Amino acid sequence: MPRPIINEDECSACGICVDTCPNGVLEIVGDAAEPVHDENCDGCAACMEDCPMGAITEIEED
Ligand code: SF4
Ligand code: SF4
Repeated sequence: MPRPIINEDECSACGICVDTCPNGVLEIVGDAAEPVHDENCDGCAACMEDCPMGAITEIEED
């Protein structure tokens, strides 16, 4: 299953990735985005491409 890896130190909690993700994977939790529904991630990488902070460092596949 793919899932986005988020660097919480770089994340500004802007919410762009939350809006970008077509599968509702991401939510803002506290002061950073988290993949709260990573079971729905299809690995499209749209969140990584749209993050203005470069905070989504990779889409991990396992
Ligand atoms: S890779 Fe695609 S499906 Fe997965 S969290 Fe990012 S935008 Fe959503
Ligand atoms: S788009 Fe980037 S900076 Fe904005 S909430 Fe998502 S991970 Fe954080």
